[in-house]
Amino acid sequence: VTKNPQQPEVNIGLVGHVDHGKTTLVQALSGSWTDQHSEEMKRGISIRLGYADATFRKIPGVDAPECYTVEEETEDGEETDVLRTVSFVDAPGHETLMATMLSGAAIMDGAVLLVSATEDVPQAQTAEHLMALDIIGIENIVIAQNKVDLVDRERAIDNYEQIQEFVKGTVAEDAPIVPISAQQEVNLDLLIEAIEENIPTPERDESEDSRMFVARSFDINRPGTTWEGLNGGVIGGSVVAGKLEDGDELELRPGREVDEEGQTEWRSITTEIRSLQAGGNMVDEVRPGGLCGVGTGLDPSVTKGDALAGQVAGKPGTLPPTREEFTMDVDLLDRVVGSEDDSVDEISTGEPLMLTVGTATTVGAVTSARSGEAEVKLKRPVCAAEGAKIAINRRVGARWRLIGIGTLK
Ligand code: GDP
Ligand code: MG
Repeated sequence: VTKNPQQPEVNIGLVGHVDHGKTTLVQALSGSWTDQHSEEMKRGISIRLGYADATFRKIPGVDAPECYTVEEETEDGEETDVLRTVSFVDAPGHETLMATMLSGAAIMDGAVLLVSATEDVPQAQTAEHLMALDIIGIENIVIAQNKVDLVDRERAIDNYEQIQEFVKGTVAEDAPIVPISAQQEVNLDLLIEAIEENIPTPERDESEDSRMFVARSFDINRPGTTWEGLNGGVIGGSVVAGKLEDGDELELRPGREVDEEGQTEWRSITTEIRSLQAGGNMVDEVRPGGLCGVGTGLDPSVTKGDALAGQVAGKPGTLPPTREEFTMDVDLLDRVVGSEDDSVDEISTGEPLMLTVGTATTVGAVTSARSGEAEVKLKRPVCAAEGAKIAINRRVGARWRLIGIGTLK
């Protein structure tokens, strides 16, 4: 498993209970993450969002499913044909992924739900993640029944039936269930076949206005670089609509906080694209799928230290408004994610909430709470369109817990 020959064209969420094998599976399908991005980009963005690219291939002249592989060559040295490159969005901490998933449904085109055959179904996060897929309407799902190397046949069948029972009546009802061992690399060909058949690359409209969610931003210059040798600021994230092209003008919102005569105000930033990186290569254009890095004409002091993380970038004049406060419709979950506690209390006026909108996370104070609706005033504004999904977290004990989903009005 080595380098990906092309940009990823689809994002596939990898969800499931902790220790059920998500990271092991991503590694089995994608190999190491080296050579995919420059060191900082690769480490920075991948770790923050947990992306890893994999290229699915086919051995010529071999029948399905045995023809499916991620290897560039067969054991006999025969070259394999590239099908497509996909980007897996792994969950470094499941709550982070949940929030990003729920608010940025646009970045996920389908999901693989991993379920360990060694435990009863469902474990807590198995249920929560499936619920999340249901809420955001991700319908292209493949279920991988993992760790079948650790159970006997009878237990495997029993567990398989538990999975079938569990997904009945959910968005995953018709999803194929593929028994695998991620660690022993058993049945990965069957899994690739199921992903190829059930999680197609969506039709993209290239003529749509470009839109990118910014997850990170950097100053890539070494300390002491002279003015002549200075590189412009770099932003990293995911294109969710249209395409970015080298040389394009780019607007970023909310932009920068400007202080003028004691009044502070957020002003959008405009710059141009000076270089593009995707799938580990310098490219001329980037479409949705995977991560990209964008070299801009911005002063690197503006982008350093993730200063622009959570912002939205796109063609100037087309971005949604910057909002310092908004009203949202609220759907509360039946119970707090990650706790045994059964109920979620109504949102009350005055309480602080942590809100994730796209890749932006901000704290908001509830200025007015009604049944099914809340008005919030944000500490840091967000750029978001009407209808945007918002992950709503409440402070429970020492931690923020996901309690519901908002829809921006
Ligand atoms: P994650 O929390 O879902 O990312 O799970 P990991 O990928 O970190 O796996 C948790 C543990 O299960 C690790 O020790 C893996 O080596 C092990 N593991 C994962 N998949 C398999 C499998 O198919 N068979 C066996 N025997 N162990 C596995
Ligand atoms: Mg993991």
